[in-house]
Amino acid sequence: MFKGNRRTDLMSRTSSGIAQVLGDAASGIACLFDPGTGAQAKDRLFQSDPESCGHPADDQDCSRQIDALTQLPNRKVFFDHVNRVCSSADDTPSFGLIVLKLSRLKHINAHFGYGRGDMMLAHVSNELATYVRKLDQRNYIARTGDAEFSFIVHNVEDDCELKVLGYILLAIANVPHIHENFYARLDGNVGVAVANSECLSARELILRADLAMQEACKNGSNETAVYTPSLKTGPIRNRKIESELRLAIESREIYAVYQPQFDIISGQMVGMEALARWKHPELGMIPPTEFIDVAERTGSIVPLGQHILRLACRDAVAMRGAPCVSVNLSVLQIVQDDVPEFTRHVLSATGLKPSRLKLEVTESAIIKDSKRIFDTLTSLKALGVSISLDDFGTGYSALSYLTDFEWDELKIDRSFVAKALKCDKAQHIAQTIGGIAEKMKARLTVEGIETSAQRDLFASIGYQVAQGFFYARPMAYADLNLSPHVLNKQ
Ligand code: C2E
Ligand code: MG
Ligand code: MG
Repeated sequence: MFKGNRRTDLMSRTSSGIAQVLGDAASGIACLFDPGTGAQAKDRLFQSDPESCGHPADDQDCSRQIDALTQLPNRKVFFDHVNRVCSSADDTPSFGLIVLKLSRLKHINAHFGYGRGDMMLAHVSNELATYVRKLDQRNYIARTGDAEFSFIVHNVEDDCELKVLGYILLAIANVPHIHENFYARLDGNVGVAVANSECLSARELILRADLAMQEACKNGSNETAVYTPSLKTGPIRNRKIESELRLAIESREIYAVYQPQFDIISGQMVGMEALARWKHPELGMIPPTEFIDVAERTGSIVPLGQHILRLACRDAVAMRGAPCVSVNLSVLQIVQDDVPEFTRHVLSATGLKPSRLKLEVTESAIIKDSKRIFDTLTSLKALGVSISLDDFGTGYSALSYLTDFEWDELKIDRSFVAKALKCDKAQHIAQTIGGIAEKMKARLTVEGIETSAQRDLFASIGYQVAQGFFYARPMAYADLNLSPHVLNKQ
């Protein structure tokens, strides 16, 4: 793609390449409003690839396949072209596909009118076409969407080269457009995929570059991403999780494990936290961090939360030593369900004393509709259930949460535990949270204790209850109930 000595040469050329590009493109600002631009682009396009329309002799057919604004081939023609390139390639292809999606065009159309937006688009497309064609006359560009351009780039060694080119194309698109009182700039994202012997079909190559482009969008503006196989399996996995979640709850594929909690001074087990687990027949263990989000998004959080609450109350009744059981409560459950009524029903059906149930709410989730949430939590407290503020110190720590509701427990987030021994500031915050809990007469729990040194530190600053891998990992109910050694940890 870049002439000269491959990778090192390419890297050293990149910054000067971008500067050169910016210089070229900036000098093109003057011709932004030159109506001749598009026609020139068309001429060059057909010079470089006489087959671009499939039937070059048929002018009428051509005009239907060429985008009127940019004079570039459309998506259909691009697809045919990629097909031809793929089918004529040998076992070691040396080309790749780039998708560039521009953003801010809608904003520019809305603020400055479609005329300006169109002119910017035509100008950018011309600059892009000129640049890629200078690299190799066989390179090909098409307008494959309203604000999307796709490229076939030849003489490419690997995806790293293609990625560098992606950034250069973004730099071209980013050049500000200035004309009298008008100043605007386009942003964009790029996805790249190289062809190889196991990816030699137009459909596959376009899909790969598209997935990479979507990945780049997730990372912010003006990013370039390279296709990797996980981009394909990720969405498939997500779709599987999404479509099978409800069935997994009903068929009991999702179950509860328990992580014991200990009095930090005596080492006696005083409670346990119920944590959801999903053992999927094909995907194996899926962590709750992955499926709770999906459940919240799709409304399955209500049956899921009810299922875990039922299991936890049932198991706690039969548990030796009558420990308290903590169950995580999603705020979205509160919004969509009558949680106090359901909890009352489960307590009476299982026979668990309300004083042995604690519900853990995450503070980052409280922000929305906090009045409704605090009303619900108050009704739950009226049943005799305790309420804990989970992951305290993360998310949107609004001190008003502490004054608007009487929490029974503050549970400091485990990120402070990891830092507390190494960083004075984290230790001071842990101490301050301890002081707040004392004033509020709330129990102070620390989670994520992994070493005896961490336990000793949190014991010395007044934490009462501890939970973490140092003591025990989450485990099946049977293991917890049958192992006397976990009940005491000094
Ligand atoms: P959480 O409620 O803060 O639960 C504590 C998490 O910390 C658990 O992860 C636990 O396994 C992990 N953990 C405990 N001790 C240690 C330690 O010493 N080191 C480290 N690195 N981690 C430790 P898990 O089970 O993956 O749960 C993650 C989150 O998923 C939970 O955070 C909770 O927010 C959510 N979740 C789990 N089960 C449920 C559920 O039934 N309902 C709802 N709404 N959320 C749940
Ligand atoms: Mg929790
Ligand atoms: Mg937590």
